Amino acid sequence: MQHTNSERLHEEALKVIVGGVNSPSRSYKAVGGGSPVVMERGQGAYFFDVDGNQYIDYLAAYGPIITGHAHPHITKAITRAAETGVLYGTPTPHEITFAKMLQEAIPSLEKVRFMNSGTEAVMTTIRVARAYTGRNKLIKFAGCYHGHSDPVLVAAGSGPSTLGTPDSAGVPKAIASDVITVPFNDIKSFKAAMDKWGQEIAAVLVEPIVGNFGIVEPLEGFLQSINDITHQAGALVIYDEVITAFRFTYGGAQDLLGVKPDLTALGKVIGGGLPIGAYGGKKDIMDKVAPIGPAYQAGTHAGNPASILSGIACLEVLKQDGVYEHLDRLGALLEKGILEAAENNNISITINRLKGALTVYFTEEKIFNYEQAENTDGETFGKFFKLMVEQGVMLAPSKYEAWFITIAHTEEDIDATIHAVNNAFESLQEK
Ligand code: PMP
Repeated sequence: MQHTNSERLHEEALKVIVGGVNSPSRSYKAVGGGSPVVMERGQGAYFFDVDGNQYIDYLAAYGPIITGHAHPHITKAITRAAETGVLYGTPTPHEITFAKMLQEAIPSLEKVRFMNSGTEAVMTTIRVARAYTGRNKLIKFAGCYHGHSDPVLVAAGSGPSTLGTPDSAGVPKAIASDVITVPFNDIKSFKAAMDKWGQEIAAVLVEPIVGNFGIVEPLEGFLQSINDITHQAGALVIYDEVITAFRFTYGGAQDLLGVKPDLTALGKVIGGGLPIGAYGGKKDIMDKVAPIGPAYQAGTHAGNPASILSGIACLEVLKQDGVYEHLDRLGALLEKGILEAAENNNISITINRLKGALTVYFTEEKIFNYEQAENTDGETFGKFFKLMVEQGVMLAPSKYEAWFITIAHTEEDIDATIHAVNNAFESLQEK
């Protein structure tokens, strides 16, 4: 496969865009380096690069593209927005319709606010929780990613009940020292942290189903225990459902799992591919937000008609019968095919899958926390990633990301992917 144009464009990009990419995860740093493939066009389950190569897309733009690229219903909505003005700076009827749709699907969203990214949504839930409780400290879980705002770019201290340290240059120590990071699926560590800091904790922030060190489900009772212990301490539970909302069911992970947070952050899928974020929760907590309450949050593009109309159209597509069954069915086929290919080629892998999202880890171990995901074989993943790209299958260039199936994928796409996986595993074995 030729990548001459991609390579040339990446060289050019390096001169004007830092690192040649607009988000670090798009670089190939985590897979041993190289020029990222530069895409020109997406259609359904495929995209096409600037060298004319076609790929089956499992990146799905890191989650949002659940309908596949350029879905006609969403395209129509975006076209309508373009034709009627993309930004007014006033309320619109569409945002009310959309808020009601979200609330109907995720009943814990008694009131919502729209904004433009998952980062903003999570950042604001933390502010609102602090405003509501009058406390500052936050507990989060190792390996969960919550965007790039200061309070969540914090690394764990030396034990589960020690304060955090900055995980990025530019994050003040003072901010990090308000954040405690504990291992996911480890209720004992969580309890130890709460025993120590409980009365100072404003909120506990968690991805209810993890999407950021692969797809990792909570162990039985984990989320319920978090709820119980957190509420007992007078703190709030925030679910970061930026990846999970509408990914596994028409609703949130909270609806799938039957547990309810106080506040929820949303993004990705709910914009149908256009930039969006939203947060919401209990009415008395949300009423802390300006103009009703003292916690400030605003945005020039917040609730813009293009993102809202695209989001409404996306949910309309997802609400149709059989959508999540299709994702689950293809997910199961893909999982089975990859496992068989691994067995045939003596490659040790573990797959975590929920419906149409899965992660292939190069390890024999079961993965239920970040430390285990960290210990999987990244070098082999890097080689595997490149072998797949060369056969026209696009994955995220990181061992921690999920493969996302869209409603545009077909059984033929899955078969072709399994064929490519077989070839890739065969090459890995030879090396
Ligand atoms: N939360 C989670 C769980 C995410 O996966 C992400 C993005 N990968 C974010 C928040 C941040 O969202 P955005 O990139 O839209 O700012």
